[in-house]
Amino acid sequence: MWDDGAWAPLPELPGDVEADVCVIGLGGSGLACVLELLALGRRVVGLDAGTVGGGAAGRNGGFLLAGLPAFYHQAAKDLGRDRAQAIYRRTMVELDRMTEETPEAIRRSGSLRIADDAIELHDCDAQLQMMLADRLPAEPYDGPEGRGILVPTDGAFNPLQRCRALARRALAGGARLFEQSAAITMRGDLVRTVRHGVHCSSVIVAVDGGLERVLPELAPRVRTARLQMLATAPVLDLDLPRPVYRRWGYEYWQQLPDRRIALGGLRDRSGDGEWTDVARSTDAVQRGLDRVLRDQLGVTAPVTHRWAGAVGYSANGLPVVDEVRSGVWAMGGYSGTGNILGALCGRGVAQLAVTGRSELLSELWSPA
Ligand SMILES: Cc1cc2nc3c(=O)[nH]c(=O)nc-3n(C[C@H](O)[C@H](O)[C@H](O)COP(=O)(O)OP(=O)(O)OC[C@H]3O[C@@H](n4cnc5c(N)ncnc54)[C@H](O)[C@@H]3O)c2cc1C
Repeated sequence: MWDDGAWAPLPELPGDVEADVCVIGLGGSGLACVLELLALGRRVVGLDAGTVGGGAAGRNGGFLLAGLPAFYHQAAKDLGRDRAQAIYRRTMVELDRMTEETPEAIRRSGSLRIADDAIELHDCDAQLQMMLADRLPAEPYDGPEGRGILVPTDGAFNPLQRCRALARRALAGGARLFEQSAAITMRGDLVRTVRHGVHCSSVIVAVDGGLERVLPELAPRVRTARLQMLATAPVLDLDLPRPVYRRWGYEYWQQLPDRRIALGGLRDRSGDGEWTDVARSTDAVQRGLDRVLRDQLGVTAPVTHRWAGAVGYSANGLPVVDEVRSGVWAMGGYSGTGNILGALCGRGVAQLAVTGRSELLSELWSPA
């Protein structure tokens, strides 16, 4: 649905090459990392097992929500208020930076959290009160979508368009990027694909869904789940100016500028079979999404696309950022909200790998 068909495929890794840093995974996080490494003057090789943005980064819901996966008041309870607030502000700054970087792909429309019942409305109020007390942008909302919270600074985007724009910029900046080049083994000075190798001084693994398959030592900390979506033909009799996050975030939709609806969710009602990295849609979940589309939104337009993607859920709700082997850094596990967090971590891990420190990750990462 996000694909405009204008991508010229990149070559496979053609032989043994040398670089300062090898980045594995060319989604939003890996590409943010590549660009930061270039800015730090490093020679970069990037490998993707599939295509640029072919993972979750190019097939997601397109929401740009500041903060952590947990709602703000919950994050404050879990992490302490100062830390939760500092992380929230970092993601707001990152979203501003992303908007400046690829303005063609991003709309700063604001976002809605809409309550499904009185209990959730009460929770929305608790979130709102804490955000207001901490001077974060939020307002009460009561409109055609329902009642809840409006976060006026959030946004929406075409995630694949942004990935491709970042990749083109990285190529123009001197990065060597290769598609269809899966990393099979990796240590700090060598990454091997089936046929060739990248000799380097450090490696950064930027894989969200399937991270524990690529680096099995992360299995206790991250688990992969499948998320599913559908999209419709243009809906002319509905006007949704902002993305909607409803029923504790388990149902979400947005209307694109061309009036198509993209809708996803139901992870809570999908059963254990959705703990998988197989990015294929299933009848059971898609039937549920159809019901949300028809019964809740009242949309009758035909469904044109159905798809799935894999994402990593972390055990503690914070992204995984770590040097997991000597010279091998890993990031992922954004628990379903990696569009801003992934960019932040990508840039932060680039700084950590090169300089040993990163202000960007002050609240998200601490040395072992
Ligand atoms: C349906 C769906 C809806 C979502 N909605 C939202 C949303 O609205 N807002 C939000 O913030 N987040 C959302 N997410 C989550 C978000 O998409 C992800 O957290 C984020 O895109 C992760 O980006 P990434 O670059 O870290 O990882 P990925 O996009 O998964 O990229 C990793 C890349 O690594 C490659 N790779 C894997 N293994 C190897 C290997 N061995 N060698 C080389 N390359 C390899 C893959 O091919 C892939 O291209 C959603 C996800 C899905 C699936």
